[in-house]
Amino acid sequence: MIDTQTIRIEATENSRISELDENNIPFGKLYSDHMFTADYIDGEWQDLKITPYQNISISPANTTLHYAITVFEGLKAYRNPEGEVIIFRPQANAKRLNVSGERMCIPELPEELFMEALTELIKLDSSWVPSKPGTALYIRPFIFGTDEYIGIRPSDNFRFMIITCPVGAYYTQPVNVKIETEFSRAFEGGTGFAKAGGNYGASLYPAKLAQEKGFHQLIWTDSKTHEYIEESGTMNVMFIVGDTLLTAPTSGTILDGITRNSVLTIARDWGMKVEERRISVKEIIEAAKDGSLKEVFGVGTAATIAPIGKIGFQDEVYELSDPAEREFSIKILKELNDIRTGAVEDKYGWTY
Ligand code: PMP
Repeated sequence: MIDTQTIRIEATENSRISELDENNIPFGKLYSDHMFTADYIDGEWQDLKITPYQNISISPANTTLHYAITVFEGLKAYRNPEGEVIIFRPQANAKRLNVSGERMCIPELPEELFMEALTELIKLDSSWVPSKPGTALYIRPFIFGTDEYIGIRPSDNFRFMIITCPVGAYYTQPVNVKIETEFSRAFEGGTGFAKAGGNYGASLYPAKLAQEKGFHQLIWTDSKTHEYIEESGTMNVMFIVGDTLLTAPTSGTILDGITRNSVLTIARDWGMKVEERRISVKEIIEAAKDGSLKEVFGVGTAATIAPIGKIGFQDEVYELSDPAEREFSIKILKELNDIRTGAVEDKYGWTY
């Protein structure tokens, strides 16, 4: 057990909470009053502290600036009807951070350190957890190498930090996506399964090209053949074809999404037919043409369920069903929101 007495707390004397307008929250621009920091030095996590949110100073030779030795997580805190703060499945994020970290030669961060840091930080900044429907406090834990060294080798020293920012409802409009058949986000043996910073930097250029053609996002396909669907932007992607919920299996190239896992668990509980298997682009395009493609949506912490309105493939654009009439997407979004905000009983033990 980590002794919480070892977390030194330096609270701010100048809270910025008055800048928070719950009706108009700019994404990722306004950070909460405090941040958590711990350093990995001499093989040990030490100097655990919560301080006012502030800039940090690093060497220009910092290994992460040059080689992206960094992994991160994303999760959210909500308010229940009693006004208490609930965090959704944080232990799963703690585990995934270590799965990602191993791939980047980042030492294990004990799960109890992650949980204590998170708990103490959110307690101190609990007034930053908004309560309007659709809003939440987004939590960003991350670890990066701190060595002052431009040789290419694993870092010896690291920093773990958590920052948070209030967020409003995401993607209110249906998303239009292009099936990408030239660029790849991930490849067998690569880092696609890890929430590693470099994956995201590298995904921007192909996404920008798609945006220039009027799409919001990409659906990534496998790097070898571009014939099989992987994920969409920073979400896992799901389809309802006939009466079956389909999604690609997690693998070395797909992030093991916590929302994905939650949706599949609930759908199975509801007695729905669920298949986790390779899904070909051809199969989805044929289903779009013959009308058996009922629903398509992205699933992830940011948007929860993001209805996909149009799919572009080669030179065609396929218009999908009206998102307002999609039975499963609407029902699962409500169920997840109800669990996360404590409106229904949490029989899965997902809320903390
Ligand atoms: N895929 C990628 C590439 C992502 O970055 C994310 C966001 N973490 C997801 C899927 C969805 O994962 P989660 O449901 O855990 O947010």
